[in-house]
Amino acid sequence: MTTQPTLEVLNSLCKRRGFVFQTSNIYGGLANSYDYGPLGVELLRNIKASWWKTFIEKRPDMVGLDSQILLHPETWVASGHTTSFNDPLVEDAVTGKRYRADHLIEAWQQKHDRPDHELAENMSVEEMGKYITENKVLSPDGNAVAAPRVFNLLFETAIGAVTGEKSKVYLRGETAQGIFTNFKNILDSSRVRLPFGVGQIGKSFRNEVTTGQFVFRTLEFEQAEIEYFFDPEKTDWKELLSAWKEDLWSFVTNQLGISEENLRWRQHSDSERSFYSEDTYDLDYNFSFGWKELWGLAYRTDYDLKQHTKHSGHEHTVTDIESGKTFVPHVIEPAVGVNRMFLMVLTDHFWEDTERKRTVLKLPFSLAPYKVAVFPLVRNKPELVEKARKLYVDLCEKFPTTWDDRSNIGKRYLYQDEIGTPFCITVDYDSLEDDTVTIRDRDTAEQIRIPQAKISEYIAAAASRMIR
Ligand code: ATP
Repeated sequence: MTTQPTLEVLNSLCKRRGFVFQTSNIYGGLANSYDYGPLGVELLRNIKASWWKTFIEKRPDMVGLDSQILLHPETWVASGHTTSFNDPLVEDAVTGKRYRADHLIEAWQQKHDRPDHELAENMSVEEMGKYITENKVLSPDGNAVAAPRVFNLLFETAIGAVTGEKSKVYLRGETAQGIFTNFKNILDSSRVRLPFGVGQIGKSFRNEVTTGQFVFRTLEFEQAEIEYFFDPEKTDWKELLSAWKEDLWSFVTNQLGISEENLRWRQHSDSERSFYSEDTYDLDYNFSFGWKELWGLAYRTDYDLKQHTKHSGHEHTVTDIESGKTFVPHVIEPAVGVNRMFLMVLTDHFWEDTERKRTVLKLPFSLAPYKVAVFPLVRNKPELVEKARKLYVDLCEKFPTTWDDRSNIGKRYLYQDEIGTPFCITVDYDSLEDDTVTIRDRDTAEQIRIPQAKISEYIAAAASRMIR
């Protein structure tokens, strides 16, 4: 069975093996910011490719988009982000450090085992303040905190040499608004018809103050968002929402190979849900620090398109060719954080194999940074090295392949297990005689000898079985 690693264990593996590094660590780091190393970038790319293939490439009703990080600032006024994209923050009376009031309350309730109390996410800012005072909720340093105040999460910056009100712009707080503002462009330039969706993957920025959640919550992160437009008179939103729930669940379990017992749907209560949404669900993953939102799924009605019409003066309507009716489409939004998927994938596939005393990342074949590692048995026999090198070059054409001739074979296996490489191939003395190699399976640690000519076939067949 897999064992869930703590954030500390994962953080250490990520740093040691080159998945994730602290940003600017030579200068002491930057809060809530991480860089993705040689292996992390490959895993991220594989997760994004899998999402893109499933939700864009393989669906006739979906198209892609890549909009800008800097949009016209009015976009964020129309979307409501400049006024209500807020977090309730409290300040430690001694250290002056700021914390999310809802997070402090959640932590207090967990510590004091109060599942009977109102959830923080359903409280207004005033209610949070009252709760903090009545229950004497303290900061993580054990100090009193002041009443919560709202804090806008948008990052501001400026265009042009002269900074001033006119040139103020925001780093986008979500990718979705770029989809809404391109709705007409996409409708007019492509062959899409309702119902259809637009998806994009890109960076978003939020001025988050909560620290210590590794890549779960960062200032800069990647989102994969979809806006799915439909005619509410022709498509039943409840059925559509259920279909999306199934699609997201299937992607997470089948493509990312995540265990079902670590996943749950959580419906937003009336007070938690945005006022324009009819129904919202979070797909939560059981992270080592609790059940947390991985993916948000919201039915947002026609709110966003109507807001952009109001603020831009441009219509966002569709005319039904059968009935001639002109209307503003409604929308369902599945929005996920790529970095949260990354953390979930590492958490769920981490395996301490106590029997063989090794740490394994049991990544699905499609997600593994390298699919194959090629080793010459020893590095000081030129004929072995030459043959192995040739095999490595050939395999690179077919699969992401890595080369290792350092230390002994046992250590090389342990290293590859820890970075999730599904197969290790060793070229040894017999290989020179009969053109066979040994191939070792990461999950079973079993080795078999096969003809070199059969390697690709063997890997392709074994890969299809390698989901968990
Ligand atoms: P949370 O409640 O955890 O702050 P949210 O409800 O504000 O998240 P959304 O606005 O619904 O998040 O954003 C969609 C998705 O983007 C989230 O489900 C999450 O996966 C991801 N996401 C949001 N904020 C961050 C962040 N600071 N770092 C990494 N991923 C994020």
